[in-house]
Amino acid sequence: MDEISMRHAIERKRDGEPLEPSLWAEIVAGYVTGEIDDAQMAALAMACVWRGLSEEEAAALTGAMVASGATLQYPDDMFVVDKHSSGGVSDIVSLVAVPLVAACGVRVAKLSGRALGHTGGTIDKLEAIDGFNATLSMDAFVRQVESVGCAIAAQTDAFAPADKRLYHLRDHTATVPSTGLIAASIVSKKVAGGANAFVFDVKCGTAAFMRDVAQAEELARMLVAISADFGRKAHAIVSDMNEPLGRYIGTGVEVFEACEVLLGRERDERALAGCLRVATAMLELGGADEARERAQRAIENGSAYAKFVEMVAAQGGSRTSLESLRPDARKQQVHAATSGVVSAIDAVALGNIARTMTNANARAGLRVAVRIGDVIERGHLLAEIFGECADSASVAATFTVA
Ligand code: URA
Repeated sequence: MDEISMRHAIERKRDGEPLEPSLWAEIVAGYVTGEIDDAQMAALAMACVWRGLSEEEAAALTGAMVASGATLQYPDDMFVVDKHSSGGVSDIVSLVAVPLVAACGVRVAKLSGRALGHTGGTIDKLEAIDGFNATLSMDAFVRQVESVGCAIAAQTDAFAPADKRLYHLRDHTATVPSTGLIAASIVSKKVAGGANAFVFDVKCGTAAFMRDVAQAEELARMLVAISADFGRKAHAIVSDMNEPLGRYIGTGVEVFEACEVLLGRERDERALAGCLRVATAMLELGGADEARERAQRAIENGSAYAKFVEMVAAQGGSRTSLESLRPDARKQQVHAATSGVVSAIDAVALGNIARTMTNANARAGLRVAVRIGDVIERGHLLAEIFGECADSASVAATFTVA
């Protein structure tokens, strides 16, 4: 595609006209080969932010981004499920749901990202386990899904490279917030990953990408619709991210919490409900009956935790390295200065503090001891800090007690 044709496409989008699927294919191909430069692509992205994308356009963009790279293929007789979270704080869902679903007999092939901003990345968490290898070759990944029933590996540049380039440009030019662009970006990576069905966990709230429920619901609808265009079964959940999902925030400490959930020891209702909701949807897509009861049983009978240990071992870790991953023994406590109701928890700030702490120490991190709505007395424990943290005052400042 030449510069003049691209300018014409930008003008049409700027004026609110939808672009044809074949044109989206030409644009993405031209961007990947360098015929279209970042300036023109950024202008088009900004026009998309203002004018929106129809579902047909978003599907065309998705297809073009899938075609820009490799796609994984599973044997025809193997049904494989994947999940995606739009990112949150203390989001332990993948660590729990992947082995839990596999323990119930549905195969899971999970491609995950790294930490972004205040949100934690599943790969960084797993790499806190001594020896764990998240950079599997495509062959090794498929083989492990077949033999163990689940694998979690880092999303590589081989899948949807056009999305990688475009996402970087959008981040740079303040053009991320477009439902159509986000949906195409997410679904293209999932389709390239080759699974038959996807569960999308769209986080919504002050610590999420989507602040507004209506926007989150629209994204959820579009993710499912575009997946269907690619012959994939999909289910989307909109879940609350106004406070951390689990109790622990960090890398190794979140793996520790995930183990506690899988062992049935973690009784935090919010963490447990968030994991079970996604696991149930994955199992239902995989055709399991009595999905929720099965998942609950897999926790109670130890098979979910055993599957996690098996997956970790298949990827270079061991039961010993997993079980030695406990929160740092150096601990500070943060207490409430006043009595009242916990009316807000700044999960963005907590996520940022934990990210800084875990750069040097995978066992460092935070444990949140209260939930929004708790009624507490002065001196009540708000949070625990594991490892070195010079600034406990900034942890205390993340809790609003009114
Ligand atoms: N996550 C993605 O993968 N892509 C987006 O555009 C936004 C969030």
